[in-house]
Amino acid sequence: MGEHRHYGDFLKEHFGCTVQKISVNAGFSCPNRDGTKGRGGCTYCNNTSFSPEYCNHPVSITEQLEQGKQFFSRKYKDMRYLAYFQSYTNTYGDTKHLMNLYREALAVEDVVGLVIATRPDCVDDELLASLAEVNHPGNVMMEFGAESAHDRTLKLVNRGHTWADVVDAVKRTVAHGIDCGLHFIMGLPGETREDMLATVRAINELPVTTVKFHQLQVLKGTCLARQIEEGELDVIRWTAQEYAGFCAKILNLLRPDIVVERMVSQSPDELLLFPRWGLKNYQFMNLLNNFHG
Ligand code: SF4
Repeated sequence: MGEHRHYGDFLKEHFGCTVQKISVNAGFSCPNRDGTKGRGGCTYCNNTSFSPEYCNHPVSITEQLEQGKQFFSRKYKDMRYLAYFQSYTNTYGDTKHLMNLYREALAVEDVVGLVIATRPDCVDDELLASLAEVNHPGNVMMEFGAESAHDRTLKLVNRGHTWADVVDAVKRTVAHGIDCGLHFIMGLPGETREDMLATVRAINELPVTTVKFHQLQVLKGTCLARQIEEGELDVIRWTAQEYAGFCAKILNLLRPDIVVERMVSQSPDELLLFPRWGLKNYQFMNLLNNFHG
């Protein structure tokens, strides 16, 4: 990642040991689907992922973490773990219920921290104050889906929040002493490369610790796939080579102290319409390194 610190190194330094994230599913839903913030969800979000299996077979947070630990500890001795509340909107509930789930995760042996992924319009000060109480020593990280710094794009993809919501969430989170990460999608409809670079400049203005980017992936059955098919709108269809070249520009522009967790993502083949690059993460990184040493 050029001059940006590698995410694995950052975690090791931050926690003082090698850590592995274990995704846990706490059964949350999404306020951008149930009418609280909006209906229909983000246009690129896959509907089928909204009838998750765990609803029929609830597995406790502790059990999920123990299963994850078993899997990783076979490979790596002395590994420590982060509970990654990844799916859906992981702060969507009342503070007491949420804190019970987070405390349950932190009570599992060898779990040294939490990463909580959520929407920027779904985190209030009451929750942040409660999280600040368990944030010792810096073991809680928030991750907000920001996607773009352009309100017209956020509207076009029906995100149901604005860039001002992102700025506000980041500032309040950091004011509570909690590290903050942001997630972005490159290539959303209506955006030029210059628009995307303007997003990177906007990130540089914020007190964020980590950032994740990935290319827009058009998934089967989504509103976005239908809009493209019907010619209502179009998106950049870059090759892996072109996207890697663009990622190099992002990295050149991004504030050097920001840790880059990733630049690319790969949805399951059976869901993905395009781009279908068929590259593993390390293969993409090799491509990127040709542009960005
Ligand atoms: S992308 Fe996130 S916020 Fe948007 S509809 Fe899907 S789960 Fe909800």
